[in-house]
Amino acid sequence: MSNKTVFGKIIDGEIPCEELYRDEFCLAFRDIQPQAPVHILVIPIKPLESLKSIQEEDQELLGHLLMTASKIAQKEGLENWRTVINTGEKAGQTVFHLHIHIIGGRELKWPPG
Ligand code: AMP
Repeated sequence: MSNKTVFGKIIDGEIPCEELYRDEFCLAFRDIQPQAPVHILVIPIKPLESLKSIQEEDQELLGHLLMTASKIAQKEGLENWRTVINTGEKAGQTVFHLHIHIIGGRELKWPPG
């Protein structure tokens, strides 16, 4: 039995996604259950579970994910957006493959629930 997460399967092309960007290190695609007019996920190709499992060696990769998220948000025409990384079940993490949410296209309230 495969222990791949749904995002691992998306990376490997086993389940489809609305892909926006891919390079050697990351993949960006639209969230299947958007919480705002724009809701995109940026994920590393490397199967990191969450921000809990990152190592010093992942520093450059994490920077690349944020750079990519910024470029994609601006390419989507967003001037304001929120980037979210849920870490752990009680913080709302449901898929245990690190991902950055890019959420925008409507006014966003703070604090989040
Ligand atoms: P989180 O709750 O932070 O772990 O976020 C997981 C996100 O993945 C949720 O916003 C889901 O809607 C999204 N998601 C789950 N399955 C898929 C899928 N097959 N394609 C695109 N997004 C997905």
